[in-house]
Amino acid sequence: MSDYQNDGSGNDKKKPKNSGPQFPFGGPKLPDPKKFGGWRFSIVYILILVVGMSLFNYVFLNKVNPTIDFSEFKNKIVSGEIKRVEMTDSYFTGYTAAQKTVAPTPGLRNPYGSSPDAIFRTVPLNDPDIIKLMDEKGVSYYAVSREGSTVLNLIFSWVLPIAFFFFIWRFLMKRLGNMGGNVLSVGQNRAVIVAEGDIVTRFPDVAGVDEAKDELVEVVDFLKNPKKYTDIGGKIPKGVLLVGPPGTGKTLLARAVAGEAGVSFFRMSGADFVEMFVGVGAARVRDLFKQAREKAPCIVFIDELDAIGKSRLNNIAGGNDEREQTLNQLLVEMDGFDATSGLIILAATNRPDVLDPALLRPGRFDRQVLVDRPDLKGREAILRIHAKAVKLDPQVDLAAVARGTPGFVGADLANIVNEAALLAVRGGRQVVSQKDFEEAIEKTVAGLEQKNRIISDDERRIVAFHETGHALVAAFTPGSDPVQKISIVPRGFGALGYTLQMPVEDRYLMTEDELLGKIDVLLGGRAAEELVFSRISTGAANDLTKATDIARKMITDYGMSARFKNVALTQRGAGMMGGAAQEPMFHREYSEATQQYIDEEIARMVETRYAGVKDTLKQRRDLLDLVGAQLLEKETLDEKEFKGLIGQPVAAV
Ligand code: ADP
Ligand code: MG
Ligand code: ZN
Repeated sequence: MSDYQNDGSGNDKKKPKNSGPQFPFGGPKLPDPKKFGGWRFSIVYILILVVGMSLFNYVFLNKVNPTIDFSEFKNKIVSGEIKRVEMTDSYFTGYTAAQKTVAPTPGLRNPYGSSPDAIFRTVPLNDPDIIKLMDEKGVSYYAVSREGSTVLNLIFSWVLPIAFFFFIWRFLMKRLGNMGGNVLSVGQNRAVIVAEGDIVTRFPDVAGVDEAKDELVEVVDFLKNPKKYTDIGGKIPKGVLLVGPPGTGKTLLARAVAGEAGVSFFRMSGADFVEMFVGVGAARVRDLFKQAREKAPCIVFIDELDAIGKSRLNNIAGGNDEREQTLNQLLVEMDGFDATSGLIILAATNRPDVLDPALLRPGRFDRQVLVDRPDLKGREAILRIHAKAVKLDPQVDLAAVARGTPGFVGADLANIVNEAALLAVRGGRQVVSQKDFEEAIEKTVAGLEQKNRIISDDERRIVAFHETGHALVAAFTPGSDPVQKISIVPRGFGALGYTLQMPVEDRYLMTEDELLGKIDVLLGGRAAEELVFSRISTGAANDLTKATDIARKMITDYGMSARFKNVALTQRGAGMMGGAAQEPMFHREYSEATQQYIDEEIARMVETRYAGVKDTLKQRRDLLDLVGAQLLEKETLDEKEFKGLIGQPVAAV
């Protein structure tokens, strides 16, 4: 067996030096129990092995009959029961048949080539009389030399057990090596990493994620005409991170970028890099980039970046060396290549929150593209793409299907089209009908509900009016940033809906009125809920936190309260060096009584603002109902649609 290949990753001390079959149990590093099925299983394998070996020996190398006493053996000769005796160094074997007969399975049951007749076996004593006795009784006797059975002996006692071990070992390596990883070729890339040329996916194959597409069009242009950018001295981005929930089409988009640019496509999943042995993942990263540089211009796509890119800071108890090294290598490679070389790295994740901040620094994944769940129009477009592959009944209304699938992502919709086609086949129909679609939706919804990904109609109504509340208050609060988009499509990470406001200009200073306006907009969501439904929900928790925060800062930091006008109550200390959060530490420099005043003042301020906001909305109840209903139907409203609904907003810029 050859040595483990090290290619200078600098972790010699942990490198398994193996001569002879390398057994994974002695490996240098415990596998991650969750990942590889666990150490526990290895012990189970050992047990199976030991038991198997014993059985093997018992069945194949031992004669079936137990040994009998030498005296009994002699008696059986005297009584004439034994007619023939086979003698070896270790055993005398007596047979009841005088002639050797051929065993039905020669060599297996009785490896010494004996007959399957009744057999008596004994351990020989140095008894010179025995030969005489046998002569007297006419028993035929002969000795079998070990030579005669060497081959069989060898096979049974050596070759088979070794083969047995070998297969078990191979089996284990397969499991541990993450599907097909052979310990001998560890560190080299496996077939997965081959570049794909001639990608057929194009942007029109992806729908419902127009904003993401707009941003990626530019990436395609970088790949096609890098000179255009470098001539001016512009820097081409090296890494683009696609962020969004599973199934929204991140992988598809990455392929489309490669397809549109006509470059090769390297795809690897973050999980592929995470290996049992330290250094292997790093070696793979190195190899991947080496190959990619040779193939440039090309796209390297790392799916599930979070598998290697988890923040190193949160690693309590030492963390995972292997992953850390892999991540470091990735950072090194990303810093190492020249942006003009035509190599662009795309990565996808649905957990941007856990990524190591180092990955997001300039020169690495400094561009982030949100790939969000599709809205009504987007879902219809996605359905159209996938419906092209099936024969549709002309009656089918895909818009209706889209309306019935709020919260579904592209992968779910592709699945529904396929499911509907299967139902049609099962029903013996030639084309897919609307009913098939309805049934397919029902089936899928049940599955998604279990995963908690479907919001009920009631919840959607609440979210719609909540967001409308934010938007209306923003529109009617002078000096507030204009509303850019309102949406009730659940946004990636926790938010059930959102209202986007675009600041007109960069703000370094904010006036007291503007701060109060911000509080108003934040409170607008809950106020609308209360007005429309006469009850409030937990959906406003985040808004309230932010509103309270602003109110607190106004009192403690900006000196905007009645009692402590122009007094800053907190002292800014120096930030903690190198801390994860760069928040400076604040010292509280006031008494308990002041604290109580602050708390009361916050409550009073928020309450006053809330009453005002409710008033604003009450006066525009018709607009609230109108916009809310429209939002519920269309799921997203852009600036123009929103302004059209409410007439020209009062808010002047
Ligand atoms: P992700 O990588 O975001 O988890 P994928 O790109 O793997 O999602 O999507 C899985 C499949 O779902 C795709 O191959 C495609 O058939 C379908 N799909 C997902 N999103 C879209 C979309 N926006 N447009 C068209 N098809 C989509
Ligand atoms: Mg994917
Ligand atoms: Zn809100």
